[in-house]
Parts: sequence; C-alpha cells; structure tokens
Amino acid sequence: MKGRFPISKFQEIETPFYYYDTDLLRDTLRAINQEVAKHEGFVVHYAIKANANPKVLNIIAQAGLGADCVSGGEIKASLSAGFSPRKIVYAGVGKADWEINLGLDKDISCFNVESTAELEVINELADRRGKIARVALRINPDVGAHTHSNITTGLAENKFGIAMRDMESVIEIATEMANIQLIGLHFHIGSQILNMGDFAALCNRVNDLQRQLERRKIMLENINVGGGLGIDYTHPNRVSIPDFKSYFDTYARLLHLREGQKLHFELGRAVVAQCGSLITRTLYVKQGAVKQFAIVDAGMTDLIRPALYQAYHKIENISSDGPKATYDVVGPICESSDVFGKSVDLNETKRGDLIAIRSAGAYGEIMASQYNCRRLPTGYITEDL
Ligand SMILES: *Cc1c(COP(=O)(O)O)cnc(C)c1O
Repeated sequence: MKGRFPISKFQEIETPFYYYDTDLLRDTLRAINQEVAKHEGFVVHYAIKANANPKVLNIIAQAGLGADCVSGGEIKASLSAGFSPRKIVYAGVGKADWEINLGLDKDISCFNVESTAELEVINELADRRGKIARVALRINPDVGAHTHSNITTGLAENKFGIAMRDMESVIEIATEMANIQLIGLHFHIGSQILNMGDFAALCNRVNDLQRQLERRKIMLENINVGGGLGIDYTHPNRVSIPDFKSYFDTYARLLHLREGQKLHFELGRAVVAQCGSLITRTLYVKQGAVKQFAIVDAGMTDLIRPALYQAYHKIENISSDGPKATYDVVGPICESSDVFGKSVDLNETKRGDLIAIRSAGAYGEIMASQYNCRRLPTGYITEDL
C-alpha cells in the first residue's frame, strides 16, 4: 500500500499536510453514480462540511453531484467550485439573514428549514426581494443512530429539526406564506453509521409520515434523507470504497416513494474520508516512564477527530518497512488530548520519518484551527505533486 503514496515527492513538502488521492476520489464518485443510476429518482448531494478543499470540491462538482451546505460560506465555496445553484440545498438550525439572502439571490434549489421562526424570516426576506423560496421542512425523526453521541442528530433531544408532532401545523403555516413554496421533507439522523438497520428505521419513519400526510392530501415532490453512511477506519486499504450498494438498496427497498417523487441524499464522509491522509513527520522519539512516544509535527489543530470524538485513525510509518515497535503517537500541542493513537504498532520510527494518518479526508482539514498560533495545514491533491 505504501506504493499508493508518492513518497519521494512527499520528501520535498513541508509537513504536516493533507494529501488527497484523486484516483480513489474519482473511483468513489464513479461507484456512487453507478449505484444511483440503478434507482429511479435518486439524487445525491455532497455535504460540503466534510471537506471544502477547492480542488476536492471541483472534482466532486464535475462528477455531477449537488451540494449540501450548512452556511453561507459553504454556499460561496460550492458556487466557486462549480456546483450549479440549482443543485444546492441549505440546512442549518441558525441561518443568519445574510446567509438566507445569499441563498435567495443565488436561487438555490432548497432551504431545509428547522423552525417556524426561521420560516417566517425566510418568507419576509424573500418578499423583500420579490422571490419565492423553495423550502423543505427538516423533521426530527426521533430515530437513533448507533454511533458516537456527539454525532447523532435525529433524536428528539437533539437541537435539529422540527418535532414530528408539529409537522402538520408547520406545513399549514408554510402553505399560507406567500413567498414560501413547500417542496419537501428533510431528515438527517447522524454520521459514521454502518448499521443499515439505522437507515431502515428512518425509512419506516418516513413511510409513516408520508401516510399521515397522504390522509391530508399533501404530496411533496422531494424526500431528503440526509447522509451519514460510515467508512471503515480500521481497513482503509481493504475497504477503500464504502458499501454504496447496500446503502442505496436499503432505501430503494424500504422507502416508498410516491409517483414522481425524488429521493435526495447528502453524503459527506463516505465520499471523501478514505481518499485523504494527514502526512506528518516524526520529530522525536521519547521513552517515558511507562510509554514510548512518537512525537510528530501534526497536532490536534490539524486533525481534531481523535481528541474530539475519540476517533480511531490508522497510523502508518510510510518511510520504513522495519520491525514494529509500540508508540503513543502524539502531537506538539499543549493539551493532553493531543494524541492521535495510543499503543500503536508502527514500523520502528526515527526522526524525519513520514507518518500517514489515514482516512482523514472527512472532517480533517476543514476542522483545522490555529490554536497555539499554528499554521493551517495545506491540502495537496495527486495532480499537485
Ligand atoms: C453533516 C451533514 C451531512 C453529512 O453527514 P455525513 O455523515 O458526513 O455523510 C448531511 N446532511 C446534513 C444536514 C448534515 O448536517
């Protein structure tokens, strides 16, 4: 697998940096498009928040996916990367006026609305501009996802969406607003979901809600089930492309679309996670009282997932094929949580070795910070090197 990294080229680049394998990214996008083509009415958006590197976005836009945005900044990033405004959807519990106005001015395809208060503001801002805002209501389906508690979003206790019991009354309110066109329902239950049963539970919930609306003769043209498909962090080489077939087949089998209805998806992590690695160098190897540390030049400022979610990332010494030794791989930041992995078996490492922290293409570079007055990491794609 080391063959997949252009190591000699890496030698010339200052670490830490992100590397995106665009062959893998294109293969992943091809796999998605292939599966989606098998199902009538399926539409896929890429969740910009997973990775907004302009070169990565550009490749995804070229593959024909739409964009799922959660801020005005993401709307701008997706437009610059070449996503058509007609394929942009915009969710978020706290949309500011300028963000709504941007969406209206650019004629994005849909606002995924999370409260009545927001609906009123969108209606008013649309009226001032003489526009009609296309809107889907984000419903909190109270469906649990078997994932880390910080990344479940579809439970009744989470801040996201409109409660199911309020759905009909909010639909009534929306229908009466002059500058709102209600076009769908939106859901998103969480992230890094590998159990298809969780998506099946969402399908059942959506079916219930659709039946409820049908009794009131309400038919909406779009159902958007969000994203959340997980990836295999343990085996980035063996399972480099997620099981899109099972994912889309689950929805095709269990979610009953009405005549002419479209089913929208918003995949983030599953699109970009495996193609990205954080490349860092070993600075020092230090023998502590009870542990041996490999101190690398990347830190939680470059990749916060291990510190924030106790996330596992596979770590490899790509400069050595030597015998293995055990290390806690840690960064230079002044926080005890600045640890990439504990008791990691690496090919024995020394100062200057290149270390790859794998499966870091999603929620990596985009979450980088300047804490400790650090520089933000640069992202390179295959074609840059
Ligand atoms: C984060 C998010 C997604 C993407 O989630 P992934 O787990 O990366 O697929 C999709 N839709 C919404 C509304 C989100 O907030």
